[in-house]
Amino acid sequence: MNLSQLANHRILDQPVYQPGKPIEQVAREHNLDPNEVCKLASNENPWGASPLAISAGEDALKNVHLYPEGSGFELRKKISQHHQLEPSQIILGNGSNEIIELLGHVFLGKEDEVIVGEHAFVVYKLMSLLMGAKPVVVPMPNLVHDLNKMHEAISSRTKLIFLPSPNNPTGTANSADEILDFANSLPDHVIFCLDEAYAEYLESPPDLRPLIKDGKKIVAMRTFSKIYGLAGLRIGYGYGSQEMVELLQKARQPFNVNSIAQATAIKALTDEGWVSLCKKRNQEGLEQMKSGCAELNLEYVPSQANFLLIKVGNGLQTFHSLQKLGVITRPMAKNLSEYLRISIGTKEENEKALKALKQVIAKGVGI
Ligand SMILES: *Cc1c(COP(=O)(O)O)cnc(C)c1O
Repeated sequence: MNLSQLANHRILDQPVYQPGKPIEQVAREHNLDPNEVCKLASNENPWGASPLAISAGEDALKNVHLYPEGSGFELRKKISQHHQLEPSQIILGNGSNEIIELLGHVFLGKEDEVIVGEHAFVVYKLMSLLMGAKPVVVPMPNLVHDLNKMHEAISSRTKLIFLPSPNNPTGTANSADEILDFANSLPDHVIFCLDEAYAEYLESPPDLRPLIKDGKKIVAMRTFSKIYGLAGLRIGYGYGSQEMVELLQKARQPFNVNSIAQATAIKALTDEGWVSLCKKRNQEGLEQMKSGCAELNLEYVPSQANFLLIKVGNGLQTFHSLQKLGVITRPMAKNLSEYLRISIGTKEENEKALKALKQVIAKGVGI
């Protein structure tokens, strides 16, 4: 008997998440100097974390022999103040991806359906399959989540609906009013999960708090991986009603968020100046990339986040060609194979990316 025969049969067909390639790996593979390689593949903050946050993390290293604060008391208190919620309405995760998984553990079984957009962040679908639930995939005309179509897809088996806004990889967002109306209109047996990984880049993200207070079944997820620049520490959180959070708390491991991540995130949240500076720089970078694409006659999807989905023709080939030139981007799955996702970098990184794109296009690679 081989090992696979002993495995839970679902795991054999389970698709695997493909992360952005690390700089060191690309440098090794293409014989490049790692300092010459830029990674614009995972929507990280190119300016890094707040210096105050980093120094708090360094201080926390001194106590690394101790287990972390298991309940994340201080950080949950800070987050609750940030959103004007109660600490009992906040759950911390090892990245907000863990919150997605906790939702699966708490709510999903074989009979359940999960509604996701065709071009939504892929982790919802992976998690649903892993739990044995059925992802119900709703088309996204114009690469925007169509909330009417998502509503029409609801059945008596629907348990969760995931809406990332702005969405990754399209960068598109639904308006705050549209999202609130949608959340309000859902039947009682459906849980609405709003993924706000890029909410800090929006001018006016939807305010779900009145609906949560009203008893709507809602959970929102945020992360420290994007604008806060802490992707390497793996920390995010969810918020919702106290009842929702209590259920999710039961499904997590005792020390799911490490002590350095907790200490760093507290300061990252406090340093609002850093966040608004990065937001402004990202806006400038987005403009730089958009006008660069226009000059190269490349179409792109209007983005409200820190990345741009660009129509390059043959996405995978363009990805490989750019990588040889030291620019790591993100190729897309089959259903978006003409596109490439490029994270907004520093001004210099964007310049380098545009120059490389120009070179690749001149060779006719992408076409
Ligand atoms: C990056 C991202 C996340 C955050 O993942 P972490 O686990 O917090 O690093 C969540 N949702 C979407 C849509 C993302 O793009």
